[in-house]
Amino acid sequence: MLKNLKELEAWFVTGSQHLYGEETLKQVDKNSKEIAVALDQSNAIPVKIIFKPVLTTPEAIHTLCQEASTAENCIGLITWMHTFSPARMWIAGLKSLSKPFVHLHTQFNRDIPWDSIDMDFMNLNQSAHGGREFGFIGSRLRIDRKVVVGHWANAEVQHKLGVWLRAACAWYDWQGGKVARFGDNMREVAVTEGNKVSAQIQFGYSVSGYGVGDLVEVVNSVSNAEISDMMEVYEALYEVSSEAKEGGSLRDALKEAARIEIGMRSFLEQGGFSAFTTTFEDLHGLAQLPGLAVQRLMAEGYGFGAEGDWKTAALVRAMKVMAIGMEGGTSFMEDYTYHLHPDGMKVLGAHMLEVCPSIGDGSNLEVHPLGIGGKADPARLVFDVASGPGVNASLMDMGNRFRLLVNPCNVIPADAPLPNLPVARVVWQPYPNLEVAAGAWILAGGAHHTGFSMAITKEHLEDFSEIAGIEFLLIDNDTTISSIKKELRWNDLYYHLAKGL
Ligand code: MN
Repeated sequence: MLKNLKELEAWFVTGSQHLYGEETLKQVDKNSKEIAVALDQSNAIPVKIIFKPVLTTPEAIHTLCQEASTAENCIGLITWMHTFSPARMWIAGLKSLSKPFVHLHTQFNRDIPWDSIDMDFMNLNQSAHGGREFGFIGSRLRIDRKVVVGHWANAEVQHKLGVWLRAACAWYDWQGGKVARFGDNMREVAVTEGNKVSAQIQFGYSVSGYGVGDLVEVVNSVSNAEISDMMEVYEALYEVSSEAKEGGSLRDALKEAARIEIGMRSFLEQGGFSAFTTTFEDLHGLAQLPGLAVQRLMAEGYGFGAEGDWKTAALVRAMKVMAIGMEGGTSFMEDYTYHLHPDGMKVLGAHMLEVCPSIGDGSNLEVHPLGIGGKADPARLVFDVASGPGVNASLMDMGNRFRLLVNPCNVIPADAPLPNLPVARVVWQPYPNLEVAAGAWILAGGAHHTGFSMAITKEHLEDFSEIAGIEFLLIDNDTTISSIKKELRWNDLYYHLAKGL
C-alpha cells in the first residue's frame, strides 16, 4: 500500500517548435530543466519531478504521452509552453494520454526587462500566447484540467501545483485499487448503495464482497502470542481504562479486539486491499463490532466506510493519500447530532466507534457496551479533536453519474466536556452556516457518511473530481439555497447532455 508520495513522479514537459532554431531551443531546454529542478526541490511539491527534453514534433509528443501512460510510477504531466507550440501537434499525444495533466502557465523570466527588451527576449518568452494555443486544444478536446497561472518560483504557484499533484497521487492509487467489503450494505439504506461496475469503469478501483466468515477464519487463527504483543502496543500508546487493564473485568474484551485487529490487518494485507467496509448487521462469528481495529487501520492509511459504504471507504482512502505527509488527519465521519441553539448552530460528528485517531489529540482506550447490534462490548479509542479548518466530502451515485459534494467547516471545541459520550467526536460549524450548509447538502442528496479531513482542502477535492471526470459541488461562503438549486438543475441538464458535447 502506497505510503510515501516521493515514490511517485510527475513528468515536466515543455512544448516548443523547430521554428526558433537550435540556439533558442537549447535555451528553452536549459530554462525548462531549471524549473523542473526547482519544483523537484520545493517543499510544496509532494512527488519527484522528472525533467523531459523539450518537445517540438507531433511524433515526439505522441511518444512521450504513450511512455507516460505506461510508466509505472508516473502519476501525470506538468505541461508548459515556453514558446509557441502549434497545438495540432498535441492532438494525437493528448488523445493517447491515460494519465492526467496540469497546465502550468508560467514564463521563465518573471519580469519584463523594460530597458533592454528586444525581439530575442520576446521570442524566447512566449508563454503568454503559447499557453493560449495549448489551452485551446485542451478545451477543443473537452479535457477537464487545472490551469495554474503565475511565476514558477512563486510560493502560491508551487502550492497550487502541489495540491493538484496530491490529487493526481490519489487518482493513481485508485487505479487498480481494491476495496474489501465484509458483509453487504445495511438493509434498506439508499445513499450507501451504488453501481460498483460504474464505479470501476469511472474510478479504476474494484469492490469485492466477502462473507464475514472469511474474515472470522483469519481472526480465529490469530495466536495468543500475537495478541499479547498487541496488548503491549496498546499499553504503550494509549491511556487504557482501568477495567481493560490486566486483571480488569473487561480485559478479555480488549484481547478480543486485538484478535480482530490482527486478523483484519492480515486479511487486508494478504488481499492487497487499501480500503474496506464492515456492517454491524452482519457480524456472525465476530465477538464484537470492530471498533479499535477499524480506527487503527484507518490511522495506518486504509480507507473505511461503515454499514457497507464502499464509496466512502474509497473516498477516505483517496483523501488519506492526498494528505500523506501533511499536518492534520483524515477520517471516516458521520453528521451525528446537532446543537441548534440560536447563538451558533453546530454539528457533532462521530460514529458508533469508527473515527480515525489521526484527527485526534491523544486517545483513551476504553471498552463500553454498544446500544445497537447485540454483540459483546467493543473496544474503542475515545478522543476530542482540536480546533482548526476542516472539510467534509461525500460521494453519491446519482444514477447517471457520480457526484462529489464538498463542504468546508470550522472545527471548534465542544461547549463543555462530554464525560458520558464513549466515542471519539468532532464539533464543527459548516460554511456558510449550518442552516444553508445542511439545506444545500440535503438538496444535493449528500450522504450522512463523509470523508472528513483537517489536512486537505476543497481545492484538493476539486482537482480530484476534475481528474476523475465527475460532478463537483461545493457548499461554501458563496452558497445560497437558491444558488445551489439552480446549480443542481443546470448540472442535471449538463450531465444529461455532456456525453454528446
Ligand atoms: Mn453510519
